[in-house]
Amino acid sequence: MDQILKVLPHDVHNATLVSNVYPPEWQNPEPAPRYNLAVIGAGTAGLVTAAGAAGLGAKVALVERHLLGGDCLNVGCVPSKCIIRSSRVYADLKDAQQFGLRLPGVAEVDFPAVMERMRRLRARISFHDSARRFQGLGVDVFLGIARFAGPGIVEVGGKALRYKKAVIATGTRPVHPAIPGLAEAGFLTNETVFSLAERPRRLAVIGGGPIGCELAQAFHRLGCEVILFHSASHILNREDRDAAEILQRSFIRDGVRLILDCKTKRVEKKNGAKVIHFECQGNEEGVAVDEILVGAGRAPNVEGLNLESVGVEYDQREGVLVNDQLQTTNPAIYAAGDICLKYKFTHTADAAARLVIQNALFRGHKKQSALTIPWCTYTDPEIAHVGMYERDAREKGIDVDTFVRPLDDVDRAIVDGEEEGFVKVHVRKGTDEILGATIVARHAGEMISELTLAIVGHLGLKTLANVIHAYPTQAEAIKQVADAYNRTRLTPFVKSLLTRWLAWTR
Ligand SMILES: Cc1cc2nc3c(=O)[nH]c(=O)nc-3n(C[C@H](O)[C@H](O)[C@H](O)COP(=O)(O)OP(=O)(O)OC[C@H]3O[C@@H](n4cnc5c(N)ncnc54)[C@H](O)[C@@H]3O)c2cc1C
Repeated sequence: MDQILKVLPHDVHNATLVSNVYPPEWQNPEPAPRYNLAVIGAGTAGLVTAAGAAGLGAKVALVERHLLGGDCLNVGCVPSKCIIRSSRVYADLKDAQQFGLRLPGVAEVDFPAVMERMRRLRARISFHDSARRFQGLGVDVFLGIARFAGPGIVEVGGKALRYKKAVIATGTRPVHPAIPGLAEAGFLTNETVFSLAERPRRLAVIGGGPIGCELAQAFHRLGCEVILFHSASHILNREDRDAAEILQRSFIRDGVRLILDCKTKRVEKKNGAKVIHFECQGNEEGVAVDEILVGAGRAPNVEGLNLESVGVEYDQREGVLVNDQLQTTNPAIYAAGDICLKYKFTHTADAAARLVIQNALFRGHKKQSALTIPWCTYTDPEIAHVGMYERDAREKGIDVDTFVRPLDDVDRAIVDGEEEGFVKVHVRKGTDEILGATIVARHAGEMISELTLAIVGHLGLKTLANVIHAYPTQAEAIKQVADAYNRTRLTPFVKSLLTRWLAWTR
């Protein structure tokens, strides 16, 4: 019942969501005498581990304390991408004139309808993660809080689940920054922002990482006045500066107020508003907003698991400590997903789960260091990356050649009016071996897969130059980068040989 109350607002969509991912009438099964695998946490990592293992014939117990689907379905990827989509449509409508279109009236954001669409689609997708579906896959689903109760035993709701191997997949939660007055004034995180039914007029976003940037842009486009605070000198500071600056320019042009290199000092409630006092280059200022959204990092869910009792070491910031095979300091216990990974994404949680199944159940030796992990920030334009940045290569003492194709040279980007961006590929110096790539483009997340495939399949730029790309597509930029590499092979000596051959055969 408690879980239903937490999913706000109460409407038919959230009722469907809850009936799928935390059915109120759910009866936990009688535990089997012993499980091959006991999985704690039913976010992406736990669900993929449980489904994969059960599909191979293992007896699996899966425990979830809140909502199956975890962050991604309920308060992460799915709801954020729904509202980002609405915000993009609206931004396009506002740009209609540039495309030679005159709209009959002024397009308006119906914020409650945007949020309702999100809840409807989230509810629809939630069937994939539903307790009943997993029951049908042969998984024993337990709803409740899990904790280790001594070697080989996980306890939930007073029941003992005996296991051969266990997997900790308990994920993370938003960090609550220690800014004086913030807690008293009240703030939103990803756990609450998707429950908004009314649009805040003025929204402050604290944190210019992927979550902060995606939501700042989306809410701004949906009609909030947004002010984004970030402690570093550019947003998305893990990305290359040239990539982040394109996005930064787009934010500023749109009217998002960016406060960079700043320290938020305190928050106070004044005349019904929340006033954020901050310091920037020695100057102190205060700004009044209606809501504050915090996206300032993640904290691992390690509390209450009784990890000490089973010898699983952890760190309050990094989460559960694992080796390259995702085994914890207790050889019978593995971890997967955000709780232990550096790269906290749904697709890495999925990949880690597959790796854990092989290592835990079949004595495999799969290594997380062997994974090639792309990622994407779903702003407009998107910024996607795979492999090494140039700075990573430099740290490893690897020399690189870098090839860049700006999108304002790419026909499809020009006709689409989406010219801001580039494809940048680093290769090992003097070779065509792809070490890393960054793409800034409206659909960079779609485009990065080609370069990920190339890295995984050991396909160099020479091969990509031979791949015929449909014309006109923005992905042609990748082929054009490969062509640029090929042109470097045409040394003056090779060219003189070719010229002589052509003269001779004329
Ligand atoms: C706003 C936002 C947007 C995002 N967008 C993207 C995106 O576009 N693409 C992408 O790849 N990633 C995105 N992510 C990241 C993605 O959501 C996570 O990487 C992913 O959910 C991690 O899955 P997980 O299974 O490791 O953890 P979680 O999804 O956090 O699941 C862990 C589960 O364990 C449960 N649990 C914890 N402790 C216990 C216990 N003691 N007993 C029982 N159950 C327990 C929790 O209730 C939770 O359901 C986004 C995240 C946020 C916050």
